[in-house]
Amino acid sequence: MVMNINSKLKELEPNYIRHVLAKSQEIEGSINLTIGEPDLKTARIVLEKSAKYMLETQLCYSPLGGVVEFREEIAKFYNNQYGSSYDRDNVLVTVGSTEGISTALRGILNPEDEVIVVKPAYPLYGGLITLSGAKIVYVDSTENGYKVSADILEGAITPKTKAIILNYPSNPCGTILSEEEVEKISRLAVEKDIYLISDEIYSELIFSGNKFYSPAAVKEVRDNLIVVNGFSKSHSMTGWRVGYILANKTLRNHLLKISQYTISTPSTLSQYGGLVALKEDINLEDNLRKYEERALYIYNLLKKIGFEVVKPEGTFYVLADYSKLSSLNSLDFSMKLLEDTGVAVVPGKSFGVENCIRISCTQELEVLEEAGKKLEEYFKG
Ligand code: PLP
Repeated sequence: MVMNINSKLKELEPNYIRHVLAKSQEIEGSINLTIGEPDLKTARIVLEKSAKYMLETQLCYSPLGGVVEFREEIAKFYNNQYGSSYDRDNVLVTVGSTEGISTALRGILNPEDEVIVVKPAYPLYGGLITLSGAKIVYVDSTENGYKVSADILEGAITPKTKAIILNYPSNPCGTILSEEEVEKISRLAVEKDIYLISDEIYSELIFSGNKFYSPAAVKEVRDNLIVVNGFSKSHSMTGWRVGYILANKTLRNHLLKISQYTISTPSTLSQYGGLVALKEDINLEDNLRKYEERALYIYNLLKKIGFEVVKPEGTFYVLADYSKLSSLNSLDFSMKLLEDTGVAVVPGKSFGVENCIRISCTQELEVLEEAGKKLEEYFKG
């Protein structure tokens, strides 16, 4: 049969991490610092209560859009953190934040619309915009310390702009925006009457001395704002596939139709797990301190070796520029690094930038130190 598929699929960027991963599997003893998968365990109470719930309850379809009590807790969580005034009718539960971003984009985009995406960019955004038939307009935050500004964004807005996607704390940069910049960007979205999509999946992973500002704290932008968040990173619950969207009630009800025709309803058990995660007083501090210690170790090490590195303010990633050490493109550089040292990292190309690699600090400090020794030795030579 002639493979007659959606032609947009052919436009999607390949998954460059796969190249590195496939190679690393051939190298015995290689150290994998590629994937953003928390190594720290899900809180015991989430596991125990969820197991009990499953044994004692028939797992039925949940209400469309999510379990009411869970939606109420999510709204409360945001209101407590950011002084917003969401209620359960602002909340749409999704299958991880991935489905949240997908639903948000599908819900607002028509072909020919433009969406502004900040580079270095988490690759999901570009792929989903391409599939929707809309146009991606990239702006680069590299020269601004990996922090986009209202001025940079304003320069990219055209009459066709439908939305801006922000992702702070940033994957892959680990940076956050100042309160002032978040307010300026929020006001810009209102003035230009465009959506502001804020992917806040790392909002709970903020290092000491830093504070995360969500546009959810800016009252004027609430009608234009679509917040996407979830439990994968903060609560080490990647496999549960549970996340959510916060949006104005009219938009939320439109987005509900997308859920209805794609996932029907999210997993009842995973929503219960998410509810426990929000209701129980889980100590996330210990995990956060570990990620911070590891990220700062990698940051200092790479700086010492000669990489240019912006100090991460959150997440568990470190983005490092190797321009002073090599002229290879980032895929070749990552592959060579892996072949020569056994350390696997993500090429900047995955995030639409060159001369960079991303290190994921989701391994114990001792493993990172072992990788660190290999890198130090290699670049000394
Ligand atoms: N957004 C960003 C910036 C991410 O880094 C990730 C995962 O790596 C996601 C969204 C998807 O997370 P989830 O597991 O909630 O689908």
